[in-house]
Amino acid sequence: MQTIAERLKSAHERIEQALAGAHRPSNSVQLLAVSKTKPVSDLLIAYEAGQRLFGENYVSEGVEKIQALKALTGIQWHMIGPLQSNKTRAVAEHFDWVQSVDRLKIARRLNDQRPEGMAPLNVCIQVNIDDEDSKSGVAPEEIDTLIDAITGFEKLTLRGLMAIPKADPTPEQQQQSLTALHDLFKRYHTKLSNFDTLSVGMSADMEAAITHGSTMVRVGSAIFGARD
Ligand SMILES: *Cc1c(COP(=O)(O)O)cnc(C)c1O
Repeated sequence: MQTIAERLKSAHERIEQALAGAHRPSNSVQLLAVSKTKPVSDLLIAYEAGQRLFGENYVSEGVEKIQALKALTGIQWHMIGPLQSNKTRAVAEHFDWVQSVDRLKIARRLNDQRPEGMAPLNVCIQVNIDDEDSKSGVAPEEIDTLIDAITGFEKLTLRGLMAIPKADPTPEQQQQSLTALHDLFKRYHTKLSNFDTLSVGMSADMEAAITHGSTMVRVGSAIFGARD
């Protein structure tokens, strides 16, 4: 069986190969280690192997891990799961990024609840790129309105877009939705400062996502093993 350190190394190799294949610069994709449901001891092993970006889906589990590991320097914590408005305060007080902003009410609460002494919270707008009922995220035509609101919030920095494309697509479907997402990203990237992040690609589809402009892949099972 492979260790977490070995699987992390393989993930970096997959990223670099995909970048080379797409004629993109080395190191132009960040690796977010998705540690949901995994014990703090696994995160510590990944940290010791050099991993610094961690993604969590559930607020209370994430906050517990942030507190358990607060002595470690340089960790960046990303909230990537659906967010209910009664949980925004804990997120605003503990996380560095929220990738799953999908409505104005959530953005406004995160802005109001971000503590004064902390740096602005980095946020991405989650886009429901394949128009799936099962997925959260805004429709592409709703992005403009949400962007206008978020750029007016002092305690939020709008960093980009996040999406979870349809699972097990045909190659044509995959190509179509990743291209549409990349086009949306480019449209705002050229207009807005700090809008530098296209968060797409997971264990199964990171190569395709990198071919289509991803700047951050969110990888869980390929690093930490299958979840229960
Ligand atoms: C669980 C999860 C991932 C990681 O998925 P894997 O297939 O385990 O790599 C990425 N993004 C989100 C939003 C997730 O919930």
